Amino acid sequence: MLVLLLLCTFGLLLRGDAQDRAALWRGNDQSGRCQYTFSVPSPTEASCPQTGGPEVEGLKARLSLLEVLVSRLTGGDTGGPQGATVRDQTELHQSLNRVTGEKNLLQGEKERLEQELEGLQRRMEEMRRETERLRNRPCPLQTPAVPPSPPLQDSGLTRPAGDSAWQTGPQGFQELKAEVTEVPAPDGSEENTGCGDVVSVGEPVTHRKADTIAGKYGVWMQDPEPVSPYGPNMIWRIDTIGSDVRQLYGYEDMEQLTKGFPSKVLLLPELVESTGSTLYRGSLYYQRRRSRSLIRFDLASESIAARRELPHAGFHGQFPYSWGGYTDIDLSVDEQGLWAVYSSSKAKGAIVISQLDPNSLEVKRSWETSIRKNSVANSFIICGKLYTVASYTSPDTTINYIYDTRTSQGKSVAIPFKNKYRYNSMIDYNLAQRKLFAWDNFHMVSYDLRLGRQE
Ligand code: CA
Repeated sequence: MLVLLLLCTFGLLLRGDAQDRAALWRGNDQSGRCQYTFSVPSPTEASCPQTGGPEVEGLKARLSLLEVLVSRLTGGDTGGPQGATVRDQTELHQSLNRVTGEKNLLQGEKERLEQELEGLQRRMEEMRRETERLRNRPCPLQTPAVPPSPPLQDSGLTRPAGDSAWQTGPQGFQELKAEVTEVPAPDGSEENTGCGDVVSVGEPVTHRKADTIAGKYGVWMQDPEPVSPYGPNMIWRIDTIGSDVRQLYGYEDMEQLTKGFPSKVLLLPELVESTGSTLYRGSLYYQRRRSRSLIRFDLASESIAARRELPHAGFHGQFPYSWGGYTDIDLSVDEQGLWAVYSSSKAKGAIVISQLDPNSLEVKRSWETSIRKNSVANSFIICGKLYTVASYTSPDTTINYIYDTRTSQGKSVAIPFKNKYRYNSMIDYNLAQRKLFAWDNFHMVSYDLRLGRQE
């Protein structure tokens, strides 16, 4: 009897295989015992829909996999633990990328600071030797006044008339004395209109804080004579930390900058060095990294319109401002056009001012001042006058010197100036708004200016 039953079962299995429709399920029942289910649809039942079985289970598994994939692609919430795991992994990956990027930037910054330390040590040694030399030198005899020398002819350099530092040789830098030249009283009719001397600088107004470590230093600018397609309210910004500085962000206006929504991001073809860039007549002017090359980048065509070396200019840490940061060449724009502030071996570290042709970048005329560039924090030019700021860290510092290119004369002053965030890496005159723009320790700040009547 048992043999007959086995034969029947085997026969049924064979028949099922032949029809390719038989199915055998194995599973556990609620009491944990094995349960086998064997079914063979009859020819009339073949059209009946199946409500379960391995095919449906397989389909269900594939469907939930697809749901997870779609959710990942659309960034949506799957609501399930599998979706949460995928999201967690994605976030972890992004965090890792961000941390790695910041680590690279900090590494670059560390290298820069080490180089700067070396430079400072070198300068200290030079100064020590110079002090030694001066100590050993006999006192000079009283000599009659030296008659004024004729103007310098080569490369249009103008000797500052009446600047006694020139008569004691190029190394006799003028000390910034405590005595202060009186600034003329402001004339109400000329305040904030036309040209004048800076009488006072307002409190810094904060507009935006940079989002990442790349924005610890930077430069932000506005074109006083914008060219289509960019409007007059457009604000531009470059974060300058790192060795691959080439992104120029454009914002429709100050409000968009404050909100952090750029409307344009341009990728510059050559790397940018430090915080000395400026904008003028639809072009960005900047110093190419590790060179004395100046570049005029046309914003409309997004291409280089001119490129020229600034003759003899120091670069990459030779003659920076006191905070370093490769601020060797500082470009700016005022009522009289495009300027470069820098130094050279020939000027032995003293600030040289050159007026540049905005189209060709050629030097039109130069002035050599008697202020050592690395003794001041930064400078800006208004109405052809250079102003230097004494400290980049002190919360209460001063504008300590003015040099007038019209008269080729300099004088010490003491106009209060605030470094609210105690690390000011860029200060420039914004002709469009007649304000100072500065970048102070991640913060984009502006200062109102009060201009007085010219002497
Ligand atoms: Ca500047």
